[in-house]
Amino acid sequence: MKRLVPLAALLLSGCIFGGGHTPPTDQRRTGAPGPSARQTQMCHADLKRIGVAFNPLPNRDRGGGCSTIGTVQLLDIGVPVTNLGAMRCGLARTFSGWARNAVAPAARQILGSDLVKIETFGTYACRAVVGVASNRLSGHAIANAVDISAFVLADGRRISVLDDWSSPDPQIRAFMRVIHSSACKRFGTVLSPDYNSAHRNHFHLEDDGAHFCR
Ligand SMILES: [Zn+2]
Repeated sequence: MKRLVPLAALLLSGCIFGGGHTPPTDQRRTGAPGPSARQTQMCHADLKRIGVAFNPLPNRDRGGGCSTIGTVQLLDIGVPVTNLGAMRCGLARTFSGWARNAVAPAARQILGSDLVKIETFGTYACRAVVGVASNRLSGHAIANAVDISAFVLADGRRISVLDDWSSPDPQIRAFMRVIHSSACKRFGTVLSPDYNSAHRNHFHLEDDGAHFCR
């Protein structure tokens, strides 16, 4: 089994590209402290059942409304993924399912090559949503969002959100649309380059139950 690429980018994520996240209001972001211990235990069991390797991380209140409650460090989901830090277990579960059951098959079926790596801009980052009037926290501030930037194929191609969302190649465009719509069925909030220019280079995937897909 391949390992995830371990990186310290957790500490940097969000600060590099922190503009313009304006997902819909998430009551749970400002209210409840996060998943219960019971929910997290059940999620751990789900990850084990589907063969995902992970380490549970300790609960931390990081101040300013930022927290990592019920988070895990993914170690192996079957395909290497860069820049993953603390993720709420539910997000990790949804992300693993999307990567394995949507992105990998779409790469094989539409692009004719196996998926060998997913590149991300990271997960947890203590920061507010940028570009709106309020100081509402980003889903990244509670480790409940991941930003996906590119996909590397066995044939050497690297399909990036920045360069290939509007690719002239109809198959690459189809791949992007298929994995985007699949994400919308799985995640609560999905923001793509169609949402605003702040998302021209990544998909923002958030496990917030908001049914917001752009
Ligand atoms: Zn994001």
